[in-house]
Amino acid sequence: MKEYQTNQLKMYIEQTEMLVINPYLHIRLSKELLEKYKQGLYNKQLAFMLNNINKIRELGIKYPSNADPVFYVYIVPDENFRELLQFPSHRNCKGGGKPVLSYDLDGFNSAYGISSNLLERENKMSSMQEVNNIHEFAHLVHGMFFYNKSRILAEGFAEALPLYTMNYESCFDEHREMLLGLTEEQILSAQELIELERHHDFNKGAILPNKSCSFDFTYFSSYLFVRGCLETIESKFGLSRVESTQKFLEIVRKSQCICEWLIFDIADAIGVPREELLCGKDMQMNVTKKLKIYEKSYIK
Ligand SMILES: [Zn+2]
Repeated sequence: MKEYQTNQLKMYIEQTEMLVINPYLHIRLSKELLEKYKQGLYNKQLAFMLNNINKIRELGIKYPSNADPVFYVYIVPDENFRELLQFPSHRNCKGGGKPVLSYDLDGFNSAYGISSNLLERENKMSSMQEVNNIHEFAHLVHGMFFYNKSRILAEGFAEALPLYTMNYESCFDEHREMLLGLTEEQILSAQELIELERHHDFNKGAILPNKSCSFDFTYFSSYLFVRGCLETIESKFGLSRVESTQKFLEIVRKSQCICEWLIFDIADAIGVPREELLCGKDMQMNVTKKLKIYEKSYIK
C-alpha cells in the first residue's frame, strides 16, 4: 500500500496570490514568483497562452450546466515542481507543465500547472510549442466532460483539438510527415493502448528525443483513434469539425464505463462494430490515407 501523503499542491495554492489577466484567464502564484511577474519575465509566454486560449474560446464549445469556466494557470517554483504537480518521474527535465486538479470553483475542473522556468522562456514559438500549449489547455476542456476515464481518449482529444479541429496539422510539417511515415505495425489499436495504460506503460514509447509528447507512439495512436472517431461522427451526422468535437465530448460524457466498455459505448454511438473499434486499425489507417490526399494541398 502507498503511504499517505498530504496534498502539497493544495497547501501551495492556499498561499498563492491571484492575478486576473482578464475575465477568462487567471493566474495563481507565490509571492516570490509574483515578483518575476512584476519584472515582466512572464509577459511573452502569457501573451502566447492568452492567444491560444482565445482560439479555443472561439470554437464555442458548450460545457455542461452552461458553464463558462475560467482558464487557471498555477505557476509553481522550479525547485519542487515535481512534487507539486505530481510530475511523472520518468521524464527527466528541469521544468514541466501538466493539468492538475483545480482549486478554484469558477475555473475548469482542472487547471494548468507549470513550473516558473517554462514561463520565463524568450524563444520564438514554434508550431510544436503552439500545439503543445493548446494540448495542455485541451485537457481542461475535456475535463469538463470526462476527466480520468481513459488515457487514450484524454491524450487523443488533447492532440486532436489543435491538430484536427483547429487544423494545426496543416502547418506542423514535422509531425505530419512522421504520421504519414507510420506503418500499420507502429499504430496501436485501442485495445493495445488500454493494455499499456493498465500496466502503466503508456508514456514509455517516445519516437524522438527532445520532442513534445506529440511524437510518442502512444500519442500518435491515440490521436489517430480520436481523429478517426471525429471523422466518423462528421460523416455519419453531417457535422463540421467543431460540431463533431462537441458531439464526441458528449458521447464520452454519457458513458458510464471505462476501458474496453467505454470504447464499446463509443462504437454504438458512432455506428462502428464494437470489436472493430476496439481491436481494429482500419479507421486509423483511413485517417493516414486521407492525410496523404490533404498533403498535396499543403504543398506550397
Ligand atoms: Zn497530455
